[in-house]
Amino acid sequence: MTDDGRDESADAGQVRYDQARYVENGQYEPLLAEKDLTRVEIGDDDDSPLPDDLTRDSLELPELSEPELARHYTRLSQMIYGIDSGPYPLGSCTMKYNPKFTEDVAALPSAAVHPDRSERSTQGTLELMYRLQDYLGRIGGMDAVTLQPPAGAAGEFVGIRVAAAYHEHNGEGHRDEVIIPESAHGTNFATAALGGYDVVSLPSDDEGRVDLEALEAALSENTAALMLTNPNTLGLFERDITEIAEMVHDVGGLLYYDGANLNALLGRARPGDMGFDVMHYNVHKTFATPHGGGGPGAGPVGVVSELAPFLPSPRVRESEGGASEPTYELFDPDHTIGKVHGFQGNWLVLVKTFAYIARLGDAGLADASAKAVLNANYLASQIEYDVPYEPFHHEFVASAGEQDAADVAKRMLDFGVHPPTTKWPEIVPEALMTEPTEVESKATLDRLAAAFNAVADEDDDTLETAPDRTTARRIDQTSAARSPRLSWHALEDE
Ligand SMILES: *Cc1c(COP(=O)(O)O)cnc(C)c1O
Repeated sequence: MTDDGRDESADAGQVRYDQARYVENGQYEPLLAEKDLTRVEIGDDDDSPLPDDLTRDSLELPELSEPELARHYTRLSQMIYGIDSGPYPLGSCTMKYNPKFTEDVAALPSAAVHPDRSERSTQGTLELMYRLQDYLGRIGGMDAVTLQPPAGAAGEFVGIRVAAAYHEHNGEGHRDEVIIPESAHGTNFATAALGGYDVVSLPSDDEGRVDLEALEAALSENTAALMLTNPNTLGLFERDITEIAEMVHDVGGLLYYDGANLNALLGRARPGDMGFDVMHYNVHKTFATPHGGGGPGAGPVGVVSELAPFLPSPRVRESEGGASEPTYELFDPDHTIGKVHGFQGNWLVLVKTFAYIARLGDAGLADASAKAVLNANYLASQIEYDVPYEPFHHEFVASAGEQDAADVAKRMLDFGVHPPTTKWPEIVPEALMTEPTEVESKATLDRLAAAFNAVADEDDDTLETAPDRTTARRIDQTSAARSPRLSWHALEDE
């Protein structure tokens, strides 16, 4: 340990950015504290109940002009890569551009309602939630929707809790297994385990889809649910989905839809019509709300009518009787699993979701999925890497072949684009899982393809030392994650 409590061994693996180089390139941006520090007296508070050594009467604060401050943050923002910098083709994560008008709608003064206000004085808020429940239900082919869960993974957990409550209610509490394809997202396994279930892992067939024989063998009277995403993580549509649904229902299990890939189906096909009983919507993937990054998100859950009584409380419904205009109220579903979030969920995220769906309408949503699929297929046709599984929809998984997919990703940063998701799903060796999304133009897709192809031709030495042109270079991600350095110390101190 050093004087300021840092673990020196931890620092060894951290971002080394070469200060001299960045000063030279005009890229280095000091902290505000390095620019200016002024000692400010804050007055002695003799009445403080805190011990003397825990109080202070002055502190150092930067005192900077507005342009200095604006430039500081602008320069910092230029040291990173974001969805406003260029294409961001992370497969499965669906990093699409979020139109700014949804921010404007969420910033309207009327959106700033205190959640403790009376139902009578928040009718507009309740109506928006009611209509959003309805939109999402119709998009997914589900009968009832809760808006509460704060992320896709949280939605999964709610969905599995609802499934458990349903089985329990029907005297089927002995069901203790959830079946999940090997190619599924890690959150599916985590959800099932956290829900108290044993995970039964399902292999894929040669074509990359659910192996029906293996499914038959996995299903039993202990099956609580099968969790699927469709198209799957290879972008392949599960052609046998109605048969799969029948097989699961025949043993009394439920079919869970992981909504992360809904972009491929939006406005064209509905999980409910395929036989799914419960699903989550990743609004930050499909309906253009910001990815949370730990901040507020939303992962609404839809269910068929048999499961509706178990949804979290409260939900919103039209009140009965009397008034000439419809009025809305909160209610607790009869056998609710309880609350899963404060108040009604992350309200402003839901406002953005609503604004996006309302603006696009039926035609716009169908157009979005068409372009998402077209863009993925165009991009795949332009790159030199092999794409072993077809026909894919909104995303594809290329193989980096002899190259290391992680090195390919690092090197792509040097060409000014964000790389795809790497090394997953594992069924494709050195996977480059790519989803350009519907928002990118042909010119941008061509730029992305050029970056892929430039890297495809490079040798290992170049790849292993990349990136060269970014603010931070190779980062030891494992040490950075295991021993994060949480306090700043100026570079000169080292
Ligand atoms: C992103 C993702 C999830 C988890 O959703 P979050 O909203 O990130 O919690 C689940 N399944 C798949 C296939 C995903 O891509």
